[in-house]
Amino acid sequence: MSDTLVSSDWTRGGDRIVFQHCQSCGHVFYFQRSFCPACGGAEPRQSVSGGLGTVHAHTLVQRAPSDEFRAITPYAIVLVDLAEGFRVMAHGDPSLRIGDAVIGRIETLAGRPLPYFNKVPDVC
Ligand SMILES: [Zn+2]
Repeated sequence: MSDTLVSSDWTRGGDRIVFQHCQSCGHVFYFQRSFCPACGGAEPRQSVSGGLGTVHAHTLVQRAPSDEFRAITPYAIVLVDLAEGFRVMAHGDPSLRIGDAVIGRIETLAGRPLPYFNKVPDVC
């Protein structure tokens, strides 16, 4: 397991989204585990996502769970299917729609680092 890669994950203070993939069956997954949730294979590898994906679902939050998030309402929560084959829940531009091509980066929202997705600009 690469400690350097893991520490670059946004949940550990980094500025990347780190995912794992199984060396036995190829399964790709997001939540960090010491084994593959599909086949039980040991020592899955870590990789850094390029941040490109597609909006799978989208909702606008009007009633926030805390004072910190209440200050930024309304805000969008999105489920994004990343190009590498896993899905994340994140914040996103409120104008996003299902099917939009997006790119994510780590931004500070409500005083904490969180993944945030914006629409990929159309290329003419
Ligand atoms: Zn596996």
